[in-house]
Amino acid sequence: MNAHDPARRRLLTGLATGIGLAVVTGSPPTRAAGAPDQLPMLQEQDPAAQASKYVSDAHRAKGAEPGASCASCSLYTSVSADAGTCSVFPSNRVAADGWCSAWSSI
Ligand code: SF4
Repeated sequence: MNAHDPARRRLLTGLATGIGLAVVTGSPPTRAAGAPDQLPMLQEQDPAAQASKYVSDAHRAKGAEPGASCASCSLYTSVSADAGTCSVFPSNRVAADGWCSAWSSI
């Protein structure tokens, strides 16, 4: 490879993009997640969950409207009886009985 080799240029561009994503997100870039029902459950200890005050049981939520839960949120898509996906946490499933401060009525 010489300094003007297109393959070398693509390699360096790809490395720079990956490093840039790692710096911005604090973690290395990951491949797209698998099927929605295979996504890991969001954990309350997850920093992103804590930032949105996510709890897996809406009864423990501080500030939730009565009856509000992930299952009644416009951002929720059910993938099983007790869990679903949420556009706020695209790498995880959330509990149908969960809640976070981004809850939005249907
Ligand atoms: Fe649940 Fe809605 Fe919050 Fe997502 S945005 S975690 S579905 S309450």
